[in-house]
Amino acid sequence: MYEKITNFIKDLYGNQDFTPLSVPVFVGNEKKYLNECINSTFVSSVGKFVDRFEEMVAEYTGAKRAVVCVNGTNALHMALMLAGVERNDEVLTQALTFIATCNAISYIGAHPVFIDVDRETMGLSPVALRKWLEDNAEVKSDVCYNKHTGHRIKACVPMHTFGHPCKIEEIVAVCQEYHIELVEDAAESIGSFYKGRHTGTFGKIGALSFNGNKTVTTGGGGMLLFNDEELGKYAKHLTTQAKVPHRWEFVHDHIGYNYRMPNINAALGCAQMEHLEEYVLNKRETAHRYQEFFANMDDISFFTEPENSRSNYWLNVVILKDKAAQQEFLQYTNDHGVMTRPIWELMNRLPMFEHCQHDSLENTIWLADRVVNIPSSVRMKIL
Ligand SMILES: *Cc1c(COP(=O)(O)O)cnc(C)c1O
Repeated sequence: MYEKITNFIKDLYGNQDFTPLSVPVFVGNEKKYLNECINSTFVSSVGKFVDRFEEMVAEYTGAKRAVVCVNGTNALHMALMLAGVERNDEVLTQALTFIATCNAISYIGAHPVFIDVDRETMGLSPVALRKWLEDNAEVKSDVCYNKHTGHRIKACVPMHTFGHPCKIEEIVAVCQEYHIELVEDAAESIGSFYKGRHTGTFGKIGALSFNGNKTVTTGGGGMLLFNDEELGKYAKHLTTQAKVPHRWEFVHDHIGYNYRMPNINAALGCAQMEHLEEYVLNKRETAHRYQEFFANMDDISFFTEPENSRSNYWLNVVILKDKAAQQEFLQYTNDHGVMTRPIWELMNRLPMFEHCQHDSLENTIWLADRVVNIPSSVRMKIL
């Protein structure tokens, strides 16, 4: 069975010696825009591509304002600060996520709390979230506290895992009821919509990533999404050293951050955005091919987009029968030139976070034992 799968994947990607998991494609205006940057000397944090990239992403996602950052991790850091998270606050998130989510929480000195995910989305479960809050939280004067630790529960950070939207509307409702700020880790989900609305625009703030392996890349980069234009403006101020605009004076009115994306990175981003919709359709077509192929196989199934969603299928997922099968599949494919990866080590199993509170994490553990990512790059042949 593993041989048949390996051959199918190789075939899908044009029978290369090595089939990577996710690599960028540069088929548009990337070189042209980079040359424009160099010729104009505006290669750094000021330049027309920065503004244009923000406008393109705002328009595509429907956010009122988008603000670039150096990468997705510091976009999340900024988002949490803007949501009012402070030292010793608790932030509810997933154990099934990439380390960046928890690192950003930790930069502030806040504590992640790990809530279970849904099997059908791999994202934060609104049911588990409500249950944990019922057992642990109390709201006093519109502030949510943990009854057991006494800490404030300030924010919730669901993640749209591998580009599949989580049950975000229900999460919004729970957060509103408990007076918790919602920050979406939409790092993996540019191009993914829930009920026609782009991921990252449901909460107070959303964070995107444009790392090299993501659906849109700027080399490294990130973006904050806002529905509140004023908050977006404030984010721009904080991410640009909180400098008060003036033609020659250096006055800063806050502790600011140098989280500005250089113009050369934004130039790449503009060129990439021009092709985003094509990339997503291409990836969805690949996912469809996988879905058909795995449909009549026993003991292995292809993960399809959740209800009410249009997923970007950033990284395709198969679910193996158990952990032993997962390990065998990883071994076989990686031995035979097809790159595959298990899901990240769960956050609550890492030394920095093993002391953190968590619920049963039943679905989280179930998925961690079975999920494998399979090659997902845009296929040039069908572009
Ligand atoms: C990629 C990613 C980020 C941000 O990563 P950067 O490499 O800093 O851009 C954050 N969260 C998740 C879940 C990610 O996959």
